[in-house]
Amino acid sequence: MIVTDPRLPSIETADIDWSNGAPRCRRFGDVYFCSENGLEETRHVFISQNRLRERFSLLPAAAPFVIAETGFGTGLNFLAAWQAWDETATPRNGCLHFVSAERHPLTHDDLARALMMWPELKAYADQLLEQYPAPTSGVHRLVLAGGRVRLTLFFGDVADAWRELDFQADAWFLDGFAPAKNPGMWTSEVIDAIPGHSKPGTTLATFTSVGEVRRRLIAAGFTMRKAPGFGPKWDMLTGTLGDATSPETPPAANDVESIAIIGAGVAGSLLARNLAERGLHVTVIDQAQEAGTAASGNIQGALYVKLGIEFNDQAKLGLSSLLFSQRYYQQFGGEHWHPSGLVQLAHSDSEQDRQNRFIARNDYPSAVLQQISAEQASELAGIPLTRGGLWFPRSGWLEPGGLCRALIDHERIFQCFGFDVHRLTPCNGKWHIAGNGEQDVVVDRVVICAGHQTPDLIPLKGGFRFRAIRGQVTHLPAKGVKCPDVVVCGSGYLNPAHGGMTLAGATFDLHDPSPTLSIESHRDNLSMLDAMVPGAVDRDSGDVDPAKLDGKVGFRCTTHDYQPVAGPLMDAYGQPLEGVNLFTGLGSKGLSYAPLLAEYLADLLSGQPVCLPGSLAKRVATGRCHRVELTEQETISA
Ligand code: SAM
Repeated sequence: MIVTDPRLPSIETADIDWSNGAPRCRRFGDVYFCSENGLEETRHVFISQNRLRERFSLLPAAAPFVIAETGFGTGLNFLAAWQAWDETATPRNGCLHFVSAERHPLTHDDLARALMMWPELKAYADQLLEQYPAPTSGVHRLVLAGGRVRLTLFFGDVADAWRELDFQADAWFLDGFAPAKNPGMWTSEVIDAIPGHSKPGTTLATFTSVGEVRRRLIAAGFTMRKAPGFGPKWDMLTGTLGDATSPETPPAANDVESIAIIGAGVAGSLLARNLAERGLHVTVIDQAQEAGTAASGNIQGALYVKLGIEFNDQAKLGLSSLLFSQRYYQQFGGEHWHPSGLVQLAHSDSEQDRQNRFIARNDYPSAVLQQISAEQASELAGIPLTRGGLWFPRSGWLEPGGLCRALIDHERIFQCFGFDVHRLTPCNGKWHIAGNGEQDVVVDRVVICAGHQTPDLIPLKGGFRFRAIRGQVTHLPAKGVKCPDVVVCGSGYLNPAHGGMTLAGATFDLHDPSPTLSIESHRDNLSMLDAMVPGAVDRDSGDVDPAKLDGKVGFRCTTHDYQPVAGPLMDAYGQPLEGVNLFTGLGSKGLSYAPLLAEYLADLLSGQPVCLPGSLAKRVATGRCHRVELTEQETISA
């Protein structure tokens, strides 16, 4: 049965019949689990038959274990696997990765109701519910249990999931309703894709023993056998990829020993923390004396993306980044993260028209965004606003400098400040990072996160399509401004007051390379505010005299296509420069893009399933940033 969602990115949720106590799916006419002993059945079919407890307990330190599943449903299998992991895996930085595809996600309420039936899983269910994404299509990465468990949840058809996702499973849970009721889950296309996502010796288990499924799995390369089913069911199937006697590959511990991150802004700090939490040792290098001083050093920054009218790869990346960062920053709530909500004002007629077309073309869940009138916007902001706009209830603002410093405060992060990197040189499989007179830092991998200074550090000849754009923010004493209760953005932004100040800006100075504060830029910011929120600034008060105001100048690093860059450094011929990665080009959306892209880079660097689908990994790839096609001699390392 082919289902098309009328308007993206919303995805049709499951229609649940609760009349018998246990959730039953109306669309497929089947139950998700049996109400009395569903948990026992999961343990028998999926956990025991894949021998997960034994395999978890034998894992080398810091090794990941990957389970892939067809049909996330209520998440019961996931939570049971998580509980088994908690009870058996050695607590040495290993990570359980669970990858699951779900065509019709349960709503948050239905999920909560279903999981209430398993009190012993409550501690796990609560964490899942706290992060469970709004029903939007695409990939959602949830980082749970402080990073010991990662869930990659693909909301969409299973065949698309296996096409888009990049992972290698150690074990499979083939769930997905009875084949007679839901043949779409058991097609050759779906089953034939399994070996390509499996390690040699991968195991699988499924509750069904249907002959056609068994034959397809054998054709795909699995050695299959029948096992006793649970309860009244006679049989179930288990399988091993390849010869049944071939032992499964023990998951490897990470072979990257040392990583240097150049640049301690939001991108570098998030990446360093992410890697350190995965058990890797990281050296963070910056020419400044502490983290978060350059473009990331503003006292306030809005969590904000501008979603395009077409739900294309650009919009998908923006949305995934926004949703991931909203989940990620929760841990800093009240300290560096202030989830006040954010209004994206329709600040001009053309922006109003754009927003109207955006709303007509797309369908976003109200938990993600809603269109609101000027009256609603004024009520939310607590100040008069003359225009409506788009309301992002879960967005807000951050204190980026403090956030960066908190992020790199970790026992596995070595801080190397006051180190002005001059040159990266490859030598015997390592990278030597030379600075101003100090001893070289020598590492296996380097990630250049140096914002607009990145092109100067790339160890390849030729030009790159990066551009530095000056932005000055203005610090305004809160007593001279009607400060909103939520972030208001449009042609610029105005933040809620914090410590007696508020921040407005930022200018967008394409042709001004000056790093010093300018009165002219303060005037531009005040004019922007007058136009965006008329009457917000008390111009008669002496508190907002441009000649006396403080502020900060930063340089955004943007690319020719205004999309970020994250991944292994490719030369102009598409060949990787082994061991060097880039993470930059975040423009003015670094706070939104960086958490997800740090997660993506950390996935790559630690050899774990990646959180971006193939299409988005391509969107952020580094190779697109070369200025011109170069001759072979020109690309040799500098
Ligand atoms: N593993 C689940 C759990 O622990 O609760 C139960 C899975 S339930 C038996 C099967 C799930 O497969 C349903 O949630 C259903 O919506 C999903 N499904 C059915 N067809 C699908 C498809 N073509 N692609 C992805 N998911 C699908």
